[in-house]
Amino acid sequence: MKNSTPEAASVYDVIIIGAGPCGLATAAHLRKQHPSALFTDEEQARYHWVSKQAAIKNKRSGRVTRGGILGSRDACPSMLVLDSNGKKWMSKWNALFLKHKIRYLRSPMFFHPDPSDRDALLSFMHAAGRPNEAQEIAGCVGKELSKHQKKRRIRRGVKSTGRSKPISEINERERRDYFARSSACFGDFCIACRDRYDLDEQQIIRQEAVQDIDYDVCDETVNEEKLFRVVTDAHCYFVRSVVLAVGGGEPFVPAPFGEMPSNGASHALDLEQKDLLSGTLAANVQSKQLTSVLVIGGGLTSAQAVDGLIRRGVSQIHLVMRGALKVKPFDIDLSWMSKYKNHERAAFWATDSFEVTTRPFANSLGERLDIIKRARNGGSITPRFKKILESHIASSRLNVHCHTTVSGQSYSETNQNWTITSNPSISGLPAFDHIVFATGTHIDITSLPYLETLHRKYPIQTYSGLPALNNDLQWAEDVPLFVTGRLAAL
Ligand SMILES: Cc1cc2nc3c(=O)[nH]c(=O)nc-3n(C[C@H](O)[C@H](O)[C@H](O)COP(=O)(O)OP(=O)(O)OC[C@H]3O[C@@H](n4cnc5c(N)ncnc54)[C@H](O)[C@@H]3O)c2cc1C
Repeated sequence: MKNSTPEAASVYDVIIIGAGPCGLATAAHLRKQHPSALFTDEEQARYHWVSKQAAIKNKRSGRVTRGGILGSRDACPSMLVLDSNGKKWMSKWNALFLKHKIRYLRSPMFFHPDPSDRDALLSFMHAAGRPNEAQEIAGCVGKELSKHQKKRRIRRGVKSTGRSKPISEINERERRDYFARSSACFGDFCIACRDRYDLDEQQIIRQEAVQDIDYDVCDETVNEEKLFRVVTDAHCYFVRSVVLAVGGGEPFVPAPFGEMPSNGASHALDLEQKDLLSGTLAANVQSKQLTSVLVIGGGLTSAQAVDGLIRRGVSQIHLVMRGALKVKPFDIDLSWMSKYKNHERAAFWATDSFEVTTRPFANSLGERLDIIKRARNGGSITPRFKKILESHIASSRLNVHCHTTVSGQSYSETNQNWTITSNPSISGLPAFDHIVFATGTHIDITSLPYLETLHRKYPIQTYSGLPALNNDLQWAEDVPLFVTGRLAAL
């Protein structure tokens, strides 16, 4: 810990760790003047509109005051946001999107950080005159089965058992939700969200890495209230509650590599390296030499990396994935979005026995893990990227090897290339100039160094690295540390 001097000022009400979409959504929630529990989505939207439009004219001075009639910001909790990646909202997200030159998001219109209104992004696009900055997400709407088709399925013996997954259907009337907005438009929407909730970066975000969190009585002689003591690489803060919005963890490198090789390899999600092409590979591409790259991974990031590398001039790519190449609009099954989503969610919540002890604790959470794994079912690519990969295969720039893992590897410093063996073995694999790991991230709450003190003082049950939080996404009833994002999956 460098220079961790106590922050002299007051005790904060909340510190949010992480300024990504989950941190932004949490901060906006805290600045929201009408709690979601009291109003429906529609009412929230209306209240926002009323507060924006309302104008009060002072009879004497004639001064017109706009907005603010529904409460004052002063009533909001004092807040600080800490992020090791940048001083702005979405720094990490923006860097990743820039690195992969992602032009359109994968998620639908209603996945966004504005808590007041499910349709906030849609409204923003229309109000900004940018309704066309979105692409329809293929394979979602228009999958309904007619009565005739349903009967035919039954005649063919395609039965619906109690536990079988319902047929994914998105109603035609929800079509407008199933568009992927452009990254630029989403970026501007997040800025609008920042402004709408008065979340100016300069005032509330600090670029600092959290190194330790403790929760205890800080000065018994003055106050017996327990406080969090959040230590960063620059300061020490006292705060009443903490929100962990730290995302999905560190880039994962699979066996037989184990750890990130120091030469000839990179991770698609590593932000230290700003561009996909680097070092020797970049030099070889620039000097128009024949180059070959091995990409490992079966999710959308691997497809984006393949496309990005080919566009930047790499001659040939081998894409290796341990399973099949799955094509899905989203990284979870469509049934979690469709009109059957309540069925899926009910099954998920029905396993909940955090407080109820009739079912064994471990089993119910094990069941939840299982549901999450089944819903995700490993990495997948979108129909749009499937077409892109097919075009690269057709032009002989890409070879895809499904159900294949790397079994052996060695890097020659002299030749600056990799010799790779695989299982099953692939004949004619070239020596690779570079390996790109598109193998996702790994997070285990028990191995986050800054949570060591909390784990020691307030142990918590974990399953596959995910904490068993209470229904308020809180560490424990008497420990007001809240968790959002991937770590809160259970
Ligand atoms: C290539 C790619 C494309 C994607 N496309 C989409 C998409 O189209 N739609 C979609 O919904 N999702 C998409 N995702 C997923 C999306 O990036 C994540 O779901 C989202 O960023 C998670 O948000 P978050 O706020 O939980 O975490 P993050 O965005 O990861 O933010 C967490 C923040 O916490 C900070 N942090 C972590 N530890 C500390 C610490 N100790 N101290 C201080 N700060 C810390 C990090 O610096 C980071 O800024 C994509 C992901 C990738 C890799």
